Amino acid sequence: MADTINAGIAPPKLWMNANGRIVCERHGGRGFRAALAASTDPGYLLTDLDNWDRLTRDEVNSEPDLCVCEDCGSRG
Ligand SMILES: [Zn+2]
Repeated sequence: MADTINAGIAPPKLWMNANGRIVCERHGGRGFRAALAASTDPGYLLTDLDNWDRLTRDEVNSEPDLCVCEDCGSRG
């Protein structure tokens, strides 16, 4: 049912690294943004320093208070 309600809404553009840091696509840092620009995988990024997984809509919906950018508080 929730999937039907959310159909058509873009999933959140939030990413979490191996340490649990969550950021939006503006606040991942220089290496993150370079990797994002070059990436062909919509859900995973590997940088020199880190690896990142994009949060899914279900993850954000299940913990909405935690799943926000740590720098700006946005949901991507
Ligand atoms: Zn942000």
